[in-house]
Amino acid sequence: MKLLVTGGAGYIGSVVAELATDAGHEVVVLDDLRAGFRAAVPQGSRLIVGAIGDPAALAQAFASGPFDAVMHLAAEAAIEESTTNPALYFQVNLADSLTLIDAMRAHGVARLVLSSTAATYGEPRQVPITEDHPQAPVNAYGESKLMLETCLRWYHRAYGLRTVAFRYFNAAGATAARGESRRHETHLLPLALDAMAGRRPPLRVFGHDYPTPDGTCVRDYVHVADIARAHLLALERIDQLGLAFFNLGSETGYSVRQVLDAVARTLGREVPSEPAPRRPGDPAVLVASAARARAELGWQPEAGLDAIIRSAWEWRQRHPHGYRE
Ligand code: UDP
Repeated sequence: MKLLVTGGAGYIGSVVAELATDAGHEVVVLDDLRAGFRAAVPQGSRLIVGAIGDPAALAQAFASGPFDAVMHLAAEAAIEESTTNPALYFQVNLADSLTLIDAMRAHGVARLVLSSTAATYGEPRQVPITEDHPQAPVNAYGESKLMLETCLRWYHRAYGLRTVAFRYFNAAGATAARGESRRHETHLLPLALDAMAGRRPPLRVFGHDYPTPDGTCVRDYVHVADIARAHLLALERIDQLGLAFFNLGSETGYSVRQVLDAVARTLGREVPSEPAPRRPGDPAVLVASAARARAELGWQPEAGLDAIIRSAWEWRQRHPHGYRE
């Protein structure tokens, strides 16, 4: 297939582009490089530098079609920032995304694979979280993605747009070639590995009084390559599915403390850490049920937490400064 991958220079998008290219798809990446890196784009896929909300960039991107599908991963995705700057999140994740989807309609592209998020659920009423769990986001990031999901339900009904939306839990880990690199890092595993290596100050553990066994937040970590594989499976099934929402998670929860312990156990070095106040916008527990993706896509995550940690560390050792030249 010929695919347009927005955000294909970013962390998850570049791994989607890598696996898609390896599987024989033709990939065009649209990314404005505000968070992504040119070096993350796989060789063999064309990069168009531009924003999803920019009509000129969209015209250029769609002129390099026709595309069989759009994989839309370009987004703002820092939860705490979304609590202080919601305007950015609604602009990019909702308004600009709708501009992209309008361009798809104008160019007759009828298949969309969307990256959504577990943050659409908010504080879970029960775990594991199934896709039918009520969606009541507790941060503007989750709200912006939920609003886009809602639009797509109507677009499917009115325009027949076929959509598979993935609600990612916590993406982590690396392939041999691509890993986590941000100009401003906020995520647990890369910060913990850098703290372990002495390249950053001790890891600040946000919150010790959550209603969890050890008081720190519980998350469901899923390997970025497992997430990317689900996107390729979605392409095979999207015409039959029409409109579908899938959790992508490992179905196992680890507290922040347990992640730091797993790093020490797997890599043989302690992660220096210190207690810190809660971070705004963080739900206490997010753990997926992935039963629907298993049943309807035949998807099964392959990597557990130890493999995630090892792959992230191997990549970090080869790229101590990330993609920065
Ligand atoms: N976290 C932490 N210290 C950090 C970064 C993250 O304690 O420096 C915690 C955070 O509060 C959350 C978990 O680690 O409970 C995962 O956070 P991350 O930012 O990696 O992903 P998110 O869950 O926000 O998508």
